[in-house]
Amino acid sequence: MEELEGRKVLFAVVLLAEASVIGREKREFVIPDWIEIVDEPVAENSKTIQRAVNVRDAKISYDGAQVWRVQALVEGQKDLVSNVTMDFQEAGLLSLWVGNESTVDVMVRSEEIPRVSRYLKQKDLRYQVVIDNLQKAIDEENPLLSVEEMEELEGRKGHRMEWTTYHRLEDIHGYLDYLAQTFPDVCSVVSIGNSVEGRPLKVIRISNGKQNAPALWIDGGIHAREWISPATVTYIINHLVENSESLDADYYILPVANPDGYEYTFTRDRLWRKNRKRAVGSMCTGVDLNRNFGYRWGGMGTSKDPCREIYAGSGPFSEPETNAIRNFFEASAANFKAYLTFHSYGQYILYPWGYDKRVPPDYADLESVGREVAVSMRKADSASSSYTVGNSATTLYAAAGGSDDWAKAILKLKYAYTIELRDTGKFGFVLPSRYIIPTAKEALAAVMVVTEACKSL
Ligand SMILES: [Zn+2]
Repeated sequence: MEELEGRKVLFAVVLLAEASVIGREKREFVIPDWIEIVDEPVAENSKTIQRAVNVRDAKISYDGAQVWRVQALVEGQKDLVSNVTMDFQEAGLLSLWVGNESTVDVMVRSEEIPRVSRYLKQKDLRYQVVIDNLQKAIDEENPLLSVEEMEELEGRKGHRMEWTTYHRLEDIHGYLDYLAQTFPDVCSVVSIGNSVEGRPLKVIRISNGKQNAPALWIDGGIHAREWISPATVTYIINHLVENSESLDADYYILPVANPDGYEYTFTRDRLWRKNRKRAVGSMCTGVDLNRNFGYRWGGMGTSKDPCREIYAGSGPFSEPETNAIRNFFEASAANFKAYLTFHSYGQYILYPWGYDKRVPPDYADLESVGREVAVSMRKADSASSSYTVGNSATTLYAAAGGSDDWAKAILKLKYAYTIELRDTGKFGFVLPSRYIIPTAKEALAAVMVVTEACKSL
């Protein structure tokens, strides 16, 4: 490797026509071994080129990329905001982080900044730079524990989990196994299936064996880049196990519903969202698992294009990750009353429906428990975080095929909520790890309120 250092290896740009061949049969090409073909290049979703990248630079860099908040100032601009972001997304110039009708957060790559800026100004749309160098924010979000600290932790506690940093899948799964081995009367762990790349989907059951206890499902990490979600969900697991004698419900918890995507956010692309399924006949990878559930699949807010972030897959439950969740519920005899799925960001407590701006017949119950949840979350930490309660499609945007709609409509679980954790946009997906504990305390308060509501059903 050393003698190659001096040779600045520039990216070999491979033409579109060759790209699909290379992706599948890279061994047939004469490629020096210090170069690795990266399946998902920087511009993957722009359908432009595939690149070969020096192994040393295999991680996608967001140097100079910015996150902007684009706002419609008057009613008439609302359509403009969504049309502009849609067009730009199609063109691969920006990526949508979150948004509702009047405000969107978008990530713009450094090379596209002048173009997008000019265009927004032409359209008289205002924007504000929220993150001025995304790579810097990424570099600062997760100061790692030293090897010594990790070893000490493992030696002292038997696992590597803690909540001041974001942990890899191995640590999270190791923690679940540790709990099952150490507290076999209270916990058990099962793998409900495997991901596209063969990683187990581990669910921990926490129960003190009380008769007729209601059961709650909790999941995290469906969207890979929302790191705060698995961190929060594992914190909840820790609390429930430590306080197991006082539990009045049984909990089934899947902390990392998209393990391939989660690992990919550590190894290649911090901002990866989907799973890692290779689409047939496309250069693009990944299905949005929260568009892949089988209720009103393929409706509003979804895409049939594998290159889009909201690609719904080839059919309902086409993905092993969502299919495993469905199979688990079909086989389970537990007395499920609630389905809580943790995402980020925006600080919302959302209830069905997501597929359209409509509500289920008992929405008043969902609204009132949702408001209690918001109150408890505000009280849970000194930051007094404010969470907005509302119907998914109305509060944010319509998105069909979400897990909460499926849980409500098909499983008929009374309390189905999607909770969008911190923050409201300052850091967005790259929430620094010092916010894990305060955020997780809020989420735990939410779980307790929903548990109470389930008890009175
Ligand atoms: Zn999400």
